[in-house]
Amino acid sequence: MNVLVVNAGSSSLKYQLFDTNTNIVKAKGLCEYIGSGGTAGTEGNIKHKVNGKINLERAIPMPNHAVATGIVVEMLTHHEFGCIKNMDEIEAVGHRIVHGGSYFSDSVLVNDDVVAKLEKCIDFAPLHTPPHLMGIRGCMEVMPDTPQVLVFDTGFHKSIPEEAYIYPIPYKYYEKYQIRRYGFHGTSHKYVSQEMCKILGRTEGTKIVTCHMGNGSSVAAVKDGKGIDTSMGFTPLEGVSMGTRSGSIDPAIVTFIMKKENFTPQRMDEFMNKECGLLGVSEVSNDSRDLEKAIKEGNPKALLAMNILAYQIKKYIGAYSAAMNGLDAVVFTAGIGENNYLIRERICRDMDYLGIKIDEKINEKTLLLPNAVEISTGDSKVKVYVIPTNEELVIAYDTADIVNNLIKM
Ligand code: ADP
Repeated sequence: MNVLVVNAGSSSLKYQLFDTNTNIVKAKGLCEYIGSGGTAGTEGNIKHKVNGKINLERAIPMPNHAVATGIVVEMLTHHEFGCIKNMDEIEAVGHRIVHGGSYFSDSVLVNDDVVAKLEKCIDFAPLHTPPHLMGIRGCMEVMPDTPQVLVFDTGFHKSIPEEAYIYPIPYKYYEKYQIRRYGFHGTSHKYVSQEMCKILGRTEGTKIVTCHMGNGSSVAAVKDGKGIDTSMGFTPLEGVSMGTRSGSIDPAIVTFIMKKENFTPQRMDEFMNKECGLLGVSEVSNDSRDLEKAIKEGNPKALLAMNILAYQIKKYIGAYSAAMNGLDAVVFTAGIGENNYLIRERICRDMDYLGIKIDEKINEKTLLLPNAVEISTGDSKVKVYVIPTNEELVIAYDTADIVNNLIKM
């Protein structure tokens, strides 16, 4: 089935046309500067790639997500730059949705009721949900007869037990506002843990910690193929230090800084999401590549920022092996996890008590590889792998499953 996977951001729309029969990405691309009003230099831009053969970039006005979706469909069906003959060859659309709130845990077919419920999720993810809704409406306008499916970043974590998702605050706030741990990066944790289970040759009885480390980072405990805990919580702010997000800090620091710096709640929110993490500590950059360069040049704050992240991930691996009563495998994935061997080394150093031993030479060479690579030594009790994530594939498969069931009905 040809599934158009859409990831709509506030001014961007990432897409992939994925064939679930052949596992081939037929085309992919990115629309940027959507809704920027057509001012010079920011009038809307599409980058479009087909099968590694066509690679083009065009400036085209994109006042809204519906227009951007129309341009994507035009590109996909273009006689010269396209890969399909007409729009009907797009058999389904799968949307990546960051937060399903308390309404959604499983992927779902879009209808009016689903859109109305997603609108109620705006409070949970105010930056992400409105653009998602624009992307959905854009596709509905351009492809009214094509089934659309929502796949949630929170979905994989639905199996987390109560003691791991309820916060120790008055229970009434869970009932009143649905404040609980939801967890994110679900499609990534699902994909890499499933790949790890294939490598282990079983799902039942497996105990895996998956470390998704990118601009946003989260760790998940996956037992018997199911998520049982994860570091991100009510929002993607909780957990380990990230590019610009603080991760978990003493909650009293929040009110302390608000009082001292005269911050409004909105300003504090911005501070914790945009000015902390690697950027805040290093005062250099939120990008781990810049930090590794600064470390080589002797910058102590850059080293501290990376050491904090490594230490926190190490602690989660320890905590989750306790939660699962054992550990079979650790997986590193996403931008930092897949490409930064130094942080993998920092995390895995002195973990032999847990049975983790990595081969530093293989680890060092594991960079930008398309497939899973084992970086643990032959005698390591715990397998350690680098597995490139593929969130789009999970979205395409979930979408195809739902649409195939619809056809059977
Ligand atoms: P996002 O969460 O936005 O999807 P990514 O998964 O792309 O982010 O991760 C971004 C991080 O990955 C940055 O800190 C960047 O430094 C790091 N990264 C990406 N590519 C490389 C690379 N080739 N070598 C080292 N680090 C990389």
